[in-house]
Amino acid sequence: MFLKKLQVLLLLLLPSLYGLAAVNVDSLQVLLTQYQAKAEGEKIYSTAKSIGKQYVHDGEYIKAIAYFNIALKQSTLNKDVLKMADDIYEIGMSYYKDNNNDKALEYLTRLTTKEFSSLEQSKKAKIFSRISLVHQSAGDYKSAFDQQLRSLQIREITNDSVGITKSLYDLGSIFFYQGSYSSALENYIQSLEISKKINNQQLVFNCFAAIGSSYEHLGKYDESLDYNIKAMELASTLKYRAGIAYAAHNIGSTYILKGEYKKALNYLEQALKIQRELNDSRGQAISLRTMAMFYIRSKRPKEAIYYLDRALEFSKEINSKSRILEIYHYYASAYRALGNYKKASDYLEEYVKEKNAQMNEMTLREMGQKKSHYEIQKKEHEINMLKNEKELLEKDQQIQDMYKYILLIAALFLLVLLTMFYSRYLVQKKSNLLLEEKNNQIRLQNEQLELANQKQADTNSLLEEKNELLKQMNEKVKQQNEKLEDSNEDLKQFAYVASHDLKEPLRMIGSYTSLLKRRYNDMFDDNATEFMGYITDAVGRMETLLTDLLTYSRLNTQQQPHEWMESKDIVDIVLANLRLKIHEQKVEINVNRDDLPKIKGARTQLVQLFQNLVSNAIKFTKEESPLVTIDCQQQEEEFIFSISDNGIGISEENKTKIFEMFRRLHSRQEYEGSGIGLSTCRKIVDKHRGRIWVESELGKGSTFFFSIPKEKVNPQQQEREMQRQRSMNLVA
Ligand code: ADP
Repeated sequence: MFLKKLQVLLLLLLPSLYGLAAVNVDSLQVLLTQYQAKAEGEKIYSTAKSIGKQYVHDGEYIKAIAYFNIALKQSTLNKDVLKMADDIYEIGMSYYKDNNNDKALEYLTRLTTKEFSSLEQSKKAKIFSRISLVHQSAGDYKSAFDQQLRSLQIREITNDSVGITKSLYDLGSIFFYQGSYSSALENYIQSLEISKKINNQQLVFNCFAAIGSSYEHLGKYDESLDYNIKAMELASTLKYRAGIAYAAHNIGSTYILKGEYKKALNYLEQALKIQRELNDSRGQAISLRTMAMFYIRSKRPKEAIYYLDRALEFSKEINSKSRILEIYHYYASAYRALGNYKKASDYLEEYVKEKNAQMNEMTLREMGQKKSHYEIQKKEHEINMLKNEKELLEKDQQIQDMYKYILLIAALFLLVLLTMFYSRYLVQKKSNLLLEEKNNQIRLQNEQLELANQKQADTNSLLEEKNELLKQMNEKVKQQNEKLEDSNEDLKQFAYVASHDLKEPLRMIGSYTSLLKRRYNDMFDDNATEFMGYITDAVGRMETLLTDLLTYSRLNTQQQPHEWMESKDIVDIVLANLRLKIHEQKVEINVNRDDLPKIKGARTQLVQLFQNLVSNAIKFTKEESPLVTIDCQQQEEEFIFSISDNGIGISEENKTKIFEMFRRLHSRQEYEGSGIGLSTCRKIVDKHRGRIWVESELGKGSTFFFSIPKEKVNPQQQEREMQRQRSMNLVA
């Protein structure tokens, strides 16, 4: 489309190139009014035509058409076919330049009717070429192609080199706009060759620019740059500013494709500047579009849209469908880059709709028959691709919508998570504070514990020291005990030996004193007899003493086995042993036999124990009838035996003393005795793991208690033992 714009510019600028001087329209109009007043047909015609051409030059096409119509009216009146044809041509071309393709076609097509069959072939070729141009501008490539082909045929027949080169160029443009760039290139190259031959610089420029554009579309950027630079240089030489701008635009476009954006921007700005100065809507539409393309490539879709908006404005102004179509496509790309798939899809839909409208089936079929079948297939393919692309875009839109929902859900989820984490964080913080407090407490406790441990350690070391001392002391005590035990043992041995061995000499003293008394009694005076009596008495006491001592020391030196026995049997033995004394003193003995239990102990010792206590009870009696009671109380763990009397009793302070060795409360004259009896009793009770004590009231009597622990044994075994014991006693 930009090539077509170039052609239009060419048509506009050619007159100025050839030095057509500007005419004062106002004065011509005054003249015209005068001629019309005078009805001077010829002058009306030429003046109106001049005014029309001036308006064309000024770009005031509607005004131009009005004056060309005045001229046409005149030529029609004169039935001057040539002039009529020229007027109609001017009107048609003015409509074309005013972007009114329908009116342009209406007028130009009229020139191909029989009415104008007399026109020259070159003129007819030009008309077909112009009609083709209008069709092309309207997007009707099929008709454009047909008309240009007719033009070329005529020009070839008439050998019109300039015409041929123009037709070849225009055919190239039709291919170009159909996207068949290699076919376009072929036609342009042919056109260039002829243009060079005929040395038509303007056409050479057109071809350079067109070839450059074709190479660009074929991806051959270096060749494209080469031709466009040539075009720009030529335009400079020709001082053809619109051409300079056009070539600069093309160079910029190629640099975009090459990715050299800085250079591209430079050339595009240069082109836009000239086009703005020339007030060139078509040029600006193209350059702004390319600027948009630059920004799309530079990934700046917002700027791209700004340029597309402006490009669309100009494209609508020049009523270029193909340009609008192209801009729609760019819009789609820009919005897609922005992520606005909805808008991208809408523009793509517009694009496909327009493209479909242009490539309707008729066009496809007829053009296919002619020359562009291959290219049209390509177009069809392209349309399908675009449709697919649109579907993809729609899918993208759906996916984007879905993403939005997912994002929303994710955001909500995140919010919930954050809330949870925050509340958890608060709880954690609280528990951390508590923990910290606890830790502090624990730390304090630990410090205290450490202190306590330290103290403990100190105490321990002190204790250890003390232990060591104690150990040493224990050792000493042990040694002393051992010594004591040794000396005790010695003492026991000594007591035993003494009491035992002293008995023999004592018996000798006793025996020989009795012998002396018996044999020499007559020889002794009263004193001697008295002394002898003392000796016998002392020997008797000494013997009792030694016997008691021996009994006591035997307890230490001789171990007696413990055996089961009836305690009442022991009591019976004791009573039998003491029966003389009991009889003599008329003592009443009261034994609660039923209460006396079976016990386990050393028989001889227990006989001794009972005998000592009973004999004491008999001994320390008062005048009136003495009474001795033997009893036993059964406790949980032990038996408590008691021997009570109604004798003299014992004072409170003597109740414990009497159990000491040789402790006597009375003189020998009062009561006989050695003071060993109760010591012996205590020793025996100790040996049976029992206790002995006395309850008494002075003058009223005493009760001696001793305990014997209960032995837990099998009753059968107990019985067996007792039987064995009895049989042994019988044998004895
Ligand atoms: P002995 O009878 O040979 O004097 P004991 O050791 O048997 O020696 O008794 C010590 C003293 O306890 C006795 O001298 C006596 O004073 C006192 N005694 C012992 N039994 C009785 C008792 N049944 N009533 C009063 N006094 C007693």
